[in-house]
Amino acid sequence: MSIVSQFFYAVKCDQCGYTDTDSEYTWWGDEGHALDVALDSDWTTDGVKHHCPECPGLSKCERCDKPAGDLAGERDYHCQTCWDALEAAELAAASRLKETHGND
Ligand SMILES: [Zn+2]
Ligand SMILES: [Zn+2]
Repeated sequence: MSIVSQFFYAVKCDQCGYTDTDSEYTWWGDEGHALDVALDSDWTTDGVKHHCPECPGLSKCERCDKPAGDLAGERDYHCQTCWDALEAAELAAASRLKETHGND
């Protein structure tokens, strides 16, 4: 007789440590599938960490696909680096507008 160990994957919240053990779909033989199911049930990810629905939402940067960090919603789901770049671009555009249209 031989014994084989079998790995299963479940998503664990990086903030509070919560694992959705009540769900019959918690343990998957496939990591990607575990993530898909979690994200379908209001879990969030930034591509590195995962948060349960009770914890602050995570998101990936819209621009570079890296973790967008805390309060990403306040930066339109961009990481700080991209947000700074976008803001700089916006400021530049705004100052060009000012030159054309004067002060509104
Ligand atoms: Zn959590
Ligand atoms: Zn970014």
